[in-house]
This record gives sequence, C-alpha cells and structure tokens, in this order.
Amino acid sequence: MAKRAKRATRAPGPAARRGEAGPSDPAHPEIPFKLPRPSPARRERARALLAALDARYPEATCRLDWSRPHELLVATILSAQATDESVNAATPALFARFPAPADLARATPDEIAPYIRTIGLWRNKARAVHESMAALVERHGGDVPRDMDALLALRGVARKTANVVLGNCFGIQAGVVVDTHVGRLAKRMGLSRHDDPAKVERDLMALFPRERWCDLSHLLIFHGRAVCRARGNTCGSDAICRTWCSEATQAARDGGATARPATRRPRGPRTPAPRPPRPA
Ligand code: SF4
Repeated sequence: MAKRAKRATRAPGPAARRGEAGPSDPAHPEIPFKLPRPSPARRERARALLAALDARYPEATCRLDWSRPHELLVATILSAQATDESVNAATPALFARFPAPADLARATPDEIAPYIRTIGLWRNKARAVHESMAALVERHGGDVPRDMDALLALRGVARKTANVVLGNCFGIQAGVVVDTHVGRLAKRMGLSRHDDPAKVERDLMALFPRERWCDLSHLLIFHGRAVCRARGNTCGSDAICRTWCSEATQAARDGGATARPATRRPRGPRTPAPRPPRPA
C-alpha cells in the first residue's frame, strides 16, 4: 500500500508535461501513439486555415495517376525523392506490361527496371516493387491490405506511403501524409515546430479534424506548389499567406518576396505561436 501511495504522488514525466496523451490517444484508441493536445485556440486556427485552403484549392487531390489500389501503392513507392510527374510518365507503360500484382511479383527486378529508369533510385525501387507485390500475393491474396501495420510490413512502404494508400484508396484516415511540402508549410505556418516528419504528422493529426487528414495533405501540397515553394516563394502577395503566415507580414515589411529561413519562429498573426525551434 505504501508503495502504491508513493507512485501516485510521483511528478509527471516529460511526456505528460508536454500535454501528450497516454500510450494511445483516448479520442482514437486504435492509433498506437500519443498525440499532443493543442489548445482550443490552435485547433480553431487550424480549422479556419483548412476552410481557406478548401476555398482556394477545391480541386486538391492526389497527383499520382492510378486506377487500382496496387497501382497507387506502386506509384507511391516510386515517388520517393522523385516528382509525381516523372512517376506519372513512367507508370502507364509499367502497368500495361505488368497489369496485376501477380505480374509484378513474377517479374524480376531486372525486368521491372527498364520501365522506371527515368525515376531516381530506380534499382532499389525495382526491388521494392517486386518484393512488395510478391508479399501482396503471398500474404493478402493479391489485394492491398486496408491496415497500417500490414502495409508497413511491405518493402518500400513507410508511414507516408501507407497513409497515401489508406486515405486515397479506401478513405481510411490513419494519419497525415507528410512530404517535403507538408513539412515545410507546417513549420512556416506555425502548425508544427518540428523537422521530423513523424512529429509533424502527430502535430497535424492533433490539430485537424480526423475526417480531413487525407485532404489536408493534398491542400498543403497544392499551396506549396502554387505559392510557398522551397525557393522563390511569394510571401506578402498571397491572401492565404498574409492571413496565416507571419513570413508574409515580415516580407511585406521588408518589401521583398522571399521568405526568411524556414527555421525562424513561425508566429501566427492572430493566435498563440508554438515554441520556437531549439538552436541546432
Ligand atoms: S507567407 Fe511565404 S513562407 Fe508563409 S506560406 Fe506564404 S509563401 Fe510560404
């Protein structure tokens, strides 16, 4: 009894002090990790930003071409460190030659490689496509599993790819896709102070309504491509930027069109800003 009483009075650990939930989030018990607990004001800000992005980019959707779930899985594996355009240029011939997962499973990586040579890292990707499709056939009867853990067990599949497939093929909101655009905008717009995509994803999952997690990444990617590019962005001249990103205010003050480095503290104009990143 005495031992129990002592444990009960123990000071909260670092995770609890950061306001993170238990081993799984009470609101989403099937998500096996903790989510931060942003303030109502930050959630409200996120909802308003989402509405602005919805209005600006009603056409925002996945930019990879696919017609069957395994095609999106393959296309997403191929898109790692490559442009969607380069993947879309290569996949029609690949899928015409190897239409089903079983065809890609039977093909050797050397037979797949000529179809994807225009895409970066093609040797590794040929192996990943072959092995992931072989696993699909062996373990799932040739169907793409609708389950995060099963997807993560496939070669070449990490959370980003699994989120793309689950969200776009099956409407399953298991997480938020964090690619280079989403990571950059999340930081610049004060949605996350992290660089690690896994931490950015958790911040976004905590801030935005779950039913919009898949759409959110499309919307941020569209804004990233259209306006907030890694270089030569248009700070100060865009209505969404002026409202939601402190970089725009600063750029307007400076009289220039270039953002300061993305590591600068992202101060939202109307809501409490997240803590600034620690110096490297
Ligand atoms: S203001 Fe600049 S940094 Fe901020 S989202 Fe717009 S283009 Fe990107």
